[in-house]
Amino acid sequence: MVHFVGAGPGAPDLITQRGAFLVQKADVVIYAGSLVNPVILGMCRQDCSVYNSAHMTLEQVLQVFQKASEKGQEVVRLHTGDPCLYGAIREQMDALDRLNIPYDDTPGVSSFCAAAAALNAEYTLPDVSQTVIITRLAGRTPVPESENLSTLALHGATMVIFLSSGMLDGVQKALLKGAYTENTPAALVYKASWPEEKVVRCTVGELAAMGKKHDISKTALVLVGDFLSKEYQRSRLYDPTFSTGFREAER
Ligand code: SAH
Repeated sequence: MVHFVGAGPGAPDLITQRGAFLVQKADVVIYAGSLVNPVILGMCRQDCSVYNSAHMTLEQVLQVFQKASEKGQEVVRLHTGDPCLYGAIREQMDALDRLNIPYDDTPGVSSFCAAAAALNAEYTLPDVSQTVIITRLAGRTPVPESENLSTLALHGATMVIFLSSGMLDGVQKALLKGAYTENTPAALVYKASWPEEKVVRCTVGELAAMGKKHDISKTALVLVGDFLSKEYQRSRLYDPTFSTGFREAER
């Protein structure tokens, strides 16, 4: 059996209890070495075989899955954040289907949640934005034409941009072609939840300069939108004049 597990954004106590339990029990752990906090590997059994997938191809990962499965061993495939975002899990799952090896998936705290926490921010504010666009700038991995950053930026919604902090000039230009202005609030969050976390609040017009100034070019998220400003409407859910399924409005 192979267990895909979200390791969380970095802080070792942000893995879920289910994820931690699976890591503690595993015979084999393959972790995404570029971003999974190695402290989590301290939870592994002494006799656990640990592999860093940063040095492996998909084929080599599959070989480890297959050998372990032949021996009846439990494998944990540890991905950073939540495996469902930019995790390359689908190709592994499809291969496991072909090999008839069973698997399951344990979610994790994605870095986009940890970044909001670092900012004490709420992405979905009434009258500001009720939509979060999670995307990336096209780099070596292409992005479908209909999803290019400047087209998505036309919405003016809350945006969380992954895998792009090494291309902040391009990010800034694309955002300015959309509904955002030079003065739209933005933030860079580097290594959210790690001891070396950096949080830089700025504007869209300052993104590239701030990346340079604070030496942020990888392992960071770019956050954009008016959710980072002070203006918003309070929520109806907790408004005394508003009835919900659980509470009558006050008269
Ligand atoms: N599955 C992961 C994302 C993997 S893609 C998740 O759910 O978070 C790798 C990208 O995620 C990095 O380039 C960076 O943009 C972002 N990232 C991962 N961990 C991060 C962290 N702790 N702080 C900020 N960004 C992070």
